[in-house]
Amino acid sequence: MAIDGPVASGKSAVGRALARRLGYRFIDTGLMYRAVAWAALCRGVDPEDGEGLAELARNLDIELQWGPEGEGGRVLIGGRDVTGLLRSPEVERIVSAVSARPEVRRVLVEKQRRLAEAGPVVMVGRDIGTVVLPDADFKVFLTASAEERARRRYLERLAQGEPTDYEAVLAEVKRRDEYDSSRPVAPLKPAPDSLVFNTDGLGLEEVVERLLGLICRQDG
Ligand code: C5P
Repeated sequence: MAIDGPVASGKSAVGRALARRLGYRFIDTGLMYRAVAWAALCRGVDPEDGEGLAELARNLDIELQWGPEGEGGRVLIGGRDVTGLLRSPEVERIVSAVSARPEVRRVLVEKQRRLAEAGPVVMVGRDIGTVVLPDADFKVFLTASAEERARRRYLERLAQGEPTDYEAVLAEVKRRDEYDSSRPVAPLKPAPDSLVFNTDGLGLEEVVERLLGLICRQDG
C-alpha cells in the first residue's frame, strides 16, 4: 500500500494507524532519507556530492523498528538508536538537498523495494505510488492546504514544548512544498491511479476510517 503527500499532510500518522489495523508492516521512507542526511553530517560528506552520498547510503545499515501502540518508531543505524537526532534543525536543513540527488534515490528506492518484497507493507513517502511501488494494490495521495498543515505542525511543536511561530512554520511548509514538487527527479505528485484525499478539517480517526472503508470495499 502506497501513501504519498506533502510535508505534514498526516501520512505517517495515517500510515501507521492503517498498518496497525491491517496487520501490515509500516515503513516511513522519509526516515531513510533523514538517516542518510544525518550520516552525511557525521562523516562530513557534502550534500551536493551525489556519489559520496550514494556510497554512504549503500553502506548504511538502517533498521526501522515499530514499537507498540502509542509509541513512535525507532531508527537504528549500525545498531545505534538515532531516532531523536533525525528531526534536528541540521538534518531538516539538508534533507531536501540530499533527497534530490538521483544517486541517493537509486540506492534507497532499491532498499525500499526489497523491504516491500518481504511481505505486506504500508509505505509512506513522496514517490511511493509513482516510482517505488507503481504496482501497489492501493495508492493514496494525502493533501491539505498549506495553512492547515502548518497549523498541525505548529500545534505539534507547541505540545512538545518547543518555542515556535506559526508564520515561520507556514513559510517552512511552503518552502519544502516548492522544493519537493519542483525537483527534477521523482517530484512530489500523485500517481495517475492514486486516490487524492483532502484531509482539511478531518481528524486522524476520520481519515483512517474513511480510507479503511475504501480499502476494504476495494478488497471485497
Ligand atoms: O517525510 P519527511 O519529512 O520525514 O521526509 C524528509 C525529506 O525526505 C522530505 O523533505 C523529502 O525531501 C524527502 N523524501 C523523499 N522521498 C521520500 C520520502 C522523503 O524525497 N519517499
